[in-house]
Amino acid sequence: MVTDLKTIIFGLLITFKTGYGQDFGYDGNTGPDFWGLKYQGCNGGKLQSPIDIELNNVTEKEFPPLVFQHFDEPLETVKLENNGHTALLSIKQGKIPNVRGGPLNETYNFSQLHFHWGRTDDEGSENLVNNQSFPLELHMVLYNTKYGNFSNALYYDDGLTVLSFLYHKTIKQNQHYQKFERELPAVENLNATVDIIGFVSLDNFTTTDRNEYFTYKGSLTTPPCSEVVTWLEFINTIPLSHEQIQEFRFLSGARGKLNHNFRPAQARNDRSVYMNIPTLSSTASSSNDRSSSKLNAHSKNGRSSSGDLRSNCGVFVLLMFKYFYYIVN
Ligand SMILES: [Zn+2]
Repeated sequence: MVTDLKTIIFGLLITFKTGYGQDFGYDGNTGPDFWGLKYQGCNGGKLQSPIDIELNNVTEKEFPPLVFQHFDEPLETVKLENNGHTALLSIKQGKIPNVRGGPLNETYNFSQLHFHWGRTDDEGSENLVNNQSFPLELHMVLYNTKYGNFSNALYYDDGLTVLSFLYHKTIKQNQHYQKFERELPAVENLNATVDIIGFVSLDNFTTTDRNEYFTYKGSLTTPPCSEVVTWLEFINTIPLSHEQIQEFRFLSGARGKLNHNFRPAQARNDRSVYMNIPTLSSTASSSNDRSSSKLNAHSKNGRSSSGDLRSNCGVFVLLMFKYFYYIVN
């Protein structure tokens, strides 16, 4: 009895400390439609995430360049865990990467990254582009350093930023994911954890072609759905093979296999969604990046031939071309 009580109190403390709700799922009476019964924040807010980003409804804007620190250095020791809702990766030892610039007024420190996927490769991403799903979405969660840590930052409008990356399916395996994929089966069971020593850099795990992105004000996509997130949704996607995507679907949650874990798109309401229009100088510097996606080549060709980067028409044609490319590949 004493042990049980201790367990309950400890559980409550953890929930309180992290600010994360734990009793939710993606099906039936614990699914997204029911989150609001227990977590008021998920219900009726005006800034909920994810959303469908409609290309004919974005506002072009030139933001200052994003500055990434320690993204290019291999991560010393990371902890991979199955928290029942996703595979979550945090840094156990080593330098903490951070980001500033763009739409962000402060510096944001890395807290964790995790994934959202679907039952098949035709679904899985949380944010959509022109109602188009992608097979996987990575959320890198960072907290505003002026609030000291993730838990405190949850209480402020500018508390968090999520750097969000979409994936596209390729025939070839992504070599940078080999170590990660090798360890993923070790966290197949609920609450399992594994330490990985000598992990790839965040640059290699995502993409360095980060000049083009959408940004909007939104929320956590899981309870308590706090509306404290500046979202950055990068236009260039990460390549991953079907076999590599498939590995995520073997994870177990509290109610069996966690074969899908994406929240449906929420109402945009009267929010503005911006698309960063990179300056010519920042575009030129990106040509040195080591991105693995061959979409970049198309993107650069498209730009050099279109000439005027700020032309609405040119940008939309470029985007439509990119998303058509994703769909057929
Ligand atoms: Zn997420």
